[in-house]
Amino acid sequence: MNNIKTRFAPSPTGYLHIGGARTALFNYVYAKHNGGKFVLRIEDTDLERSEKIFEEDIIESLKWLSIISDEEIIRQSNRLEIYGSYIDKLLKEGKAYYCFCSKELLEEDRNRLIAENKKPMYAGRCRELKPGEELLKTPHVIRFKVNRDSSASTVFKDLIRNQLISVDNKEIDDFVLVREDGIPTYNFAVVIDDALSGITCVIRGDDHVSNTPKQIMLYNALGFNAPEFAHVSMILGQDGKRLSKRHGATSVNQYKKEGFLPEALVNYLIRLGWSHGNDEILSMEEIIKYFDLKNISKSAAIFNTEKLLWLNSHYIKSKDPFILIGLINDITDDSQSRLNVDIKTAAIVDSLKSRSKTLVELRQKLDFFVNETIEYKPQVMNEFNFNENDLVFLKSFKEFILGLDDKIFIKENALESLKVSIESIKNEFNDFLSKKGWTMKEKAMLIRLAFAGEKVSPPIYEIIFALGKERCVKRIELFSGYLSSIKIYNSKF
Ligand code: GLU
Repeated sequence: MNNIKTRFAPSPTGYLHIGGARTALFNYVYAKHNGGKFVLRIEDTDLERSEKIFEEDIIESLKWLSIISDEEIIRQSNRLEIYGSYIDKLLKEGKAYYCFCSKELLEEDRNRLIAENKKPMYAGRCRELKPGEELLKTPHVIRFKVNRDSSASTVFKDLIRNQLISVDNKEIDDFVLVREDGIPTYNFAVVIDDALSGITCVIRGDDHVSNTPKQIMLYNALGFNAPEFAHVSMILGQDGKRLSKRHGATSVNQYKKEGFLPEALVNYLIRLGWSHGNDEILSMEEIIKYFDLKNISKSAAIFNTEKLLWLNSHYIKSKDPFILIGLINDITDDSQSRLNVDIKTAAIVDSLKSRSKTLVELRQKLDFFVNETIEYKPQVMNEFNFNENDLVFLKSFKEFILGLDDKIFIKENALESLKVSIESIKNEFNDFLSKKGWTMKEKAMLIRLAFAGEKVSPPIYEIIFALGKERCVKRIELFSGYLSSIKIYNSKF
């Protein structure tokens, strides 16, 4: 298909939600798959609820996910004149009319119909009114004149369900096109904008299904060609309820802050309701290559945080450590806690990346390396019965560290050379152990406790490299001092 054009049209009344991001992604990859264009439109006509900060967040979050508009971003608030000219046309052609009914009167009608067990709809009081100039000075809205011929219906094809949806016109109210304050409603502005931008396919949440017939009526009344429509089902939480803040993070920026990678989120979101065989790991390029609407699921998708974490670990694991350092720094507010972009940090990051599900977790695991002081927590230390031999070992180990060739500790940010350095440290260390008749198994825990204060740590060789001689020696001395201090209280020592 040629000249495909899609759009994402968020209202800036909140941060970009995970559901919105998925809708944007569907539109983006559908356009790209077909060699078409994707555009972003900010639907900010709800002046009270729209906020600049949300608009910025939406644009930033989409950019972070690599969902970029192919054209200048449209803002509806800049287009009021355009909407005005189309309203005039509809009024002139008798397809829209002024309505002067007060809120109280409408409320009364509504309550009466509800009491009669009928669908509350506008009574059509002003449909045939020909208001004079004086009346037009009083508050009013403008309504669409729905075709009320007895058998009139509005039909459209939904590309996800792959079926025609037909709605009797009598089910549809004479809906408002322009509010009392002169601002167009969503249903009106969306049609003008989609038509004038040449949108060929609208992919959006199925909470908009009931708006589609109204919009089709407007396309017809204005003599525009209607686009195709694809309504995607909702995202639900594990409890089957619509995904909301109760289920944890729901905004894209929150996921970013929590240490998720954009590739993981894109991969996760696309699989949330679309599939390509059994493929779980899909890059943006692959998604674009394979995407089609017919493989979008008809049923609601259930959000599964475990799976998102699994994908995130996969992407973290496959990243260059220098890039990971940059990504961690991007989400670190406090400038003091920023990581150095150097080979030492990269060595530790590289050794920890396969054990971290998020960047935040990875950053926490780096604490022992970043911080100067090591805490010897009683709940960890009390598990061990240290003895005199441990002090003997630490003394020799310190000498071993001091004896390492300075050349091993490369300074340049070269991962290939790092591998060589780590290999040399490993060989030297194994030689040292075997000469002394010790084994790694026996001594590894003591070293971890000395270097990290924890029973688990990155591999010892990487730590030796990253800390460097001076910091290693300092930690060994500190730990020896600690062991000597507990010796006084421990008779078995
Ligand atoms: N501004 C609407 C929303 O955020 C857009 C709906 C549509 O895609 O037509 O829900």
